[in-house]
Amino acid sequence: MAENVCPKLEKCPIFIKGVLFSEMAGEAYKNLYCLKDNKYPQCKRFMVSQKMVGPIPEKILPNSVLSVDELIEQIEKLKIKI
Ligand code: SF4
Repeated sequence: MAENVCPKLEKCPIFIKGVLFSEMAGEAYKNLYCLKDNKYPQCKRFMVSQKMVGPIPEKILPNSVLSVDELIEQIEKLKIKI
């Protein structure tokens, strides 16, 4: 995979599990984050994945308004419910 592409792109669940509203939304995320070397590190999914082990829920989108710490807190709460 090219160096400037997010290393998680091939297995990113938001693209392979069909959680996005439309194909266009997926393309927009790819163009805004996944395919740009200076942008994918700013994707909230990517940022959270750098701070915790395990799968990141598909609900978390690249442009989430929540901070990384808030997202991690939400994920931890989900784990407790399971
Ligand atoms: S959505 Fe985020 S984590 Fe997934 S491939 Fe794109 S930049 Fe990487």
